[in-house]
Amino acid sequence: MIGEEFKLLEQGKLLPLMEEFYSIQGEGANAGKAAYFLRIGGCDVGCYWCDVKESWNPQFHPLTSVEQMISNTAKYPAKQVVITGGEPLIYNLDYLTALLHKESIKIFLETSGSHPFSGEFDWICLSPKKQMRPLSQYYQFAHELKIIIHDDSDFAWAEENAEKVNLECKLYLQPEWSQIENMLPKITNFIMENPKWMASMQIHKYMNIP
Ligand code: SF4
Repeated sequence: MIGEEFKLLEQGKLLPLMEEFYSIQGEGANAGKAAYFLRIGGCDVGCYWCDVKESWNPQFHPLTSVEQMISNTAKYPAKQVVITGGEPLIYNLDYLTALLHKESIKIFLETSGSHPFSGEFDWICLSPKKQMRPLSQYYQFAHELKIIIHDDSDFAWAEENAEKVNLECKLYLQPEWSQIENMLPKITNFIMENPKWMASMQIHKYMNIP
């Protein structure tokens, strides 16, 4: 990376973009809504069950100008965008989110909360991971807590996180896709016994869309 590119990356004016596409949000509180997706490359959290491991190394993803991303996003009728990764908050998102809001595009964020916060969002989905816990600031402003249930120990992890979030935060349990047969009955029982939780079912996978 040349010096000028590095500077623009630090300023959040260039970001490693793994992919961008128009689809329907499949997870959490905004499930079912059409949105443009910006998947930013780079993640150091290391979930072993991660289904986007190809996102981890940012060097595999082209540095893309924020202006280009905004122009692509604005072509579609749903004026809302999901910023996901990877872990998008490895980068400074102030510039990207300011420009999206200038175009009156709503911004939904998916984050593990493991890196310092930047940007302005209309909806923040915090999906904490045990091996790199969220910074405490995220619990105060998360709109949604989404816990991925891969094994039985994740229910205790879910409750530990639910104790920390603000009172308005919606609580979701989502089966890890490879464990769905085993974990879905347990999630169902857990939610019926603990009805503050709701199920998030990755409906995009059932709809056969990205
Ligand atoms: Fe994959 Fe997300 Fe975990 Fe990063 S935080 S390893 S992108 S599941």
